[in-house]
Amino acid sequence: ETQKETLGFQTEVKQLLNLMIHSLYSNKEIFLRELISNASDAAEKLRFEALSNGELYENDGDLKIHVKYDETAKTVTIEDNGIGMSRDDVVDHLGTIAKSGTANFLSQLTGDKAKDNQLIGQFGVGFYSAFIVANQVDVYTRRAGADVAEGVHWSSKGEGEFTIATVEKAGRGTQIVLHLKDGEEEFANGQRLRTLVRKYSDHISMPVVMQKEAPLGSEDDEEAQAVVEEEETVNSATALWTRNKGDISDEEYGEFYKHISHDFGDALTWGHNRVEGNLEYTSLLYVPENAPYDLWNREAPRGLKLYIQRVFIMDQADQFLPLYLRFIKGVVDSNNLSLNVSREILQQDPSVDKLRSALTKRVLDMLTKLGKNDPEKYRKFWNAFGSVIKEGPAEDYTNRDKITKLLRFASTHEDNPDTLVSLEEYVSRMQEGQEKIYYITAENYNTAKNSPHLEIFRKKGIEVLLMTERVDEWMMSHLFDFDGKSFQDVTKGELELGDADSEEEKKAQEEAAKEAESLVERLKERLEERVSEVRVTHRLTDSPACLVLNAYDMGAQMRQIMEAAGQ
Ligand code: ADP
Ligand code: MG
Repeated sequence: ETQKETLGFQTEVKQLLNLMIHSLYSNKEIFLRELISNASDAAEKLRFEALSNGELYENDGDLKIHVKYDETAKTVTIEDNGIGMSRDDVVDHLGTIAKSGTANFLSQLTGDKAKDNQLIGQFGVGFYSAFIVANQVDVYTRRAGADVAEGVHWSSKGEGEFTIATVEKAGRGTQIVLHLKDGEEEFANGQRLRTLVRKYSDHISMPVVMQKEAPLGSEDDEEAQAVVEEEETVNSATALWTRNKGDISDEEYGEFYKHISHDFGDALTWGHNRVEGNLEYTSLLYVPENAPYDLWNREAPRGLKLYIQRVFIMDQADQFLPLYLRFIKGVVDSNNLSLNVSREILQQDPSVDKLRSALTKRVLDMLTKLGKNDPEKYRKFWNAFGSVIKEGPAEDYTNRDKITKLLRFASTHEDNPDTLVSLEEYVSRMQEGQEKIYYITAENYNTAKNSPHLEIFRKKGIEVLLMTERVDEWMMSHLFDFDGKSFQDVTKGELELGDADSEEEKKAQEEAAKEAESLVERLKERLEERVSEVRVTHRLTDSPACLVLNAYDMGAQMRQIMEAAGQ
């Protein structure tokens, strides 16, 4: 070894390591999934780069992942002949966390195990999960195309620092050797490893290869020993989305989700479609169960994994879905794009627009179906991503109707913040002669619910939607009608709630108005410029007075947002 140095992990890595080792202990076997997932990514990256530079294969185009173990030495080894890493790559990828928002993520940790566990899951564990079971990890790697003398040896005990040295490495790619902790010897076992590979990595499109095992009790049998020299592929080694829906179990879909999403949590639902004809593609799109920690970070990576004719092209291809569906994870495999695409070319390719609108429809249909068939799951989805969906009406004019059907709000129908209604439900309950969909926006549920503006509606038994999220008022400025009914903010303008219930009532109202005339005059004088008008109203039943906005005034919520922004 030459040029050996000792470097410290970035502070964030130290924190993450510490946390992971303690809180993911009950789920320690996932280290194998993470390392095989990385090996598979590395092989796919090589295949992509080799499209334009065949030399990178170094006469070995047979991409594979080897899993080995040594019971006596208590080691497990994961080896790939993928893209490999240069010395700089190693320092960057295995010494720091490159993700944006890491510090913010770490600052949210509370010390509460269950909560933190969930957070770490959302963050993703990756390579560092090796230290859950190992007290030393050695990585030997060489970047494809680099000189044999430019191999790199990285070694660490996971305690704050690592060493890095230059070594010779004949084959390209990466070999990761885990020295198991005392008590974790169970992983240096062929049966155990095979079971884990099948459980977690069956869907990996690269073959995961292990040496055959001699049948039990045949240690002295020469023929049986010869078998051990042979290798066998342990997983099914076909890209999951290329298989038939009917042959794929929910567990397999679930594991594949974890592989592509780097999410530790589960998927809530998914849609798998193969489309033939002019536009040919296969898509496998997932709705995560939990929102990622960086859902609101505009720079956070998003998008689908793009394959073209089965070949991996890029991660985070964000051209295929609009921003308000940024939480969707998945794969799109297209036959319409040519293999030598780049992000720039993608921007100009007309098939990309077609794919984008097809995939957007797929997602909206999937969510609509979920709302119909599984309200409980839909509720989970809505809690996690509802406020992102609310960006939809402004962003995506074409699909406005579909998006509007996905919306859910609290309402005066149940007067319960936990019961949400859809616009379809609202409309189905509308009264004879009711022409508008009424809503109120407020800072929180209680303010909305107790607003004096609702009094007349309650009296007449007309349902009002209670909107309490910051985006609501803004969203409503982009929604004009639903099912032919226009939306009406109950705090704005005249209500036109129809005629008084009876002639008698009408008379009473007129009389009341007359009686109040002098009061109105006095109020006008006192309030002067501060209001544009004082009116007698019939919209209140209990409160003496309320503020009403003109039909085109900015709502109270918008005004606060603008004021906060210094406008
Ligand atoms: P992620 O897979 O989400 O990027 P990981 O912590 O699993 O995060 O891996 C960090 C990075 O280390 C990878 O993005 C990759 O650049 C590099 N890496 C890890 N394992 C390998 C490997 N077997 N071959 C090449 N690069 C790897
Ligand atoms: Mg990874």
